[in-house]
Amino acid sequence: MIVVLRPGLKQDEIQKVVQRIEGFGLRAHISEGKERTIIGAIGDERLLADQSLESFPGVEKVLPILKPYKLVSREFQKANTIINVNGQKIGGKKIHVMAGPCSVESREQVLESAIPVKEAGATFLRGGAFKPRTSPYSFQGLGEEGLGHLARAREITGLPIITEVLDPRDLEVVCEYSDILQVGARNMQNFKLLTEVGKLDKPVMLKRGMSATIQEFLLSAEYIATEGNRKIILCERGIRTYEVETRNTLDLSAVPVLKQLTHLPVFVDPSHGTGRWDLVAPMALAGIAAGADGLLIEVHSHPELALSDGPQSLKPEKFAAMMQELKRVAEAVGREL
Ligand code: PEP
Ligand code: MN
Repeated sequence: MIVVLRPGLKQDEIQKVVQRIEGFGLRAHISEGKERTIIGAIGDERLLADQSLESFPGVEKVLPILKPYKLVSREFQKANTIINVNGQKIGGKKIHVMAGPCSVESREQVLESAIPVKEAGATFLRGGAFKPRTSPYSFQGLGEEGLGHLARAREITGLPIITEVLDPRDLEVVCEYSDILQVGARNMQNFKLLTEVGKLDKPVMLKRGMSATIQEFLLSAEYIATEGNRKIILCERGIRTYEVETRNTLDLSAVPVLKQLTHLPVFVDPSHGTGRWDLVAPMALAGIAAGADGLLIEVHSHPELALSDGPQSLKPEKFAAMMQELKRVAEAVGREL
């Protein structure tokens, strides 16, 4: 980083800043100009990031050079991360569609989505057994019983499972059943959960917090990566804005931005991103056109009876129609479905 000093600083004040920089194991390179003196802090400046040098009286400005995240950055790894889940490669040429109900409600209900989405070309089954609901009076999910229904649907369809984990205490049981862990928007900054998930050898989909910046999103992914787990999929699922026509504002520009900044696979969730079933297909197509590696889509055989997120759930036949359109978009952007 570059530390710009205030004009007219005395040598002993400059030395105080130098000592602070060197105290963090960085090298300080002083460069004296005609009007101003700057110090180049050489080394891993992330160590200094929180110890803001700007609070030093002699320092006017600190200009970071590096991104605050490292392991998940494109600078650290040029090639795309490809995650192998039961032989399915996520992050490569193939677009993956993870589809199924918002919540697992019963064995039959899961199958009523799982079988048709498999036939239509989905490669993973989604379904929540532990549900993060805004109201404590809303359906909270079937817990382990729901995980069992997902496992049964996997046996029948062959589709691997992605399901959400809310609490580090449930990690063991969720891992027993699931092929990919989902960390939801509300938990994007649950650092304890991120750290625990980071210790596992299990792929994880991290969803963007509803008011998280892209940098905060990537720093959350970094929490997982620093613990050792590099099998991270990012998912843009809409952010909260002033617009009320849609449940959230799907930030599609986040897709190419993330593809530039990170080597991790990027997914789009147009179901939560819009909150409206009639907008799911157009935004799914747009997500793939924008460079996403896959989609997370809610499907329910009877959306009007769904215990959560019915208004944004596609009926199986609409899902199948969307998959046909998606094929053409995928081909147009050099991908396959
Ligand atoms: C979900 O996928 O059902 C979900 C709760 O998503 P999000 O965390 O993005 O709200
Ligand atoms: Mn949902």
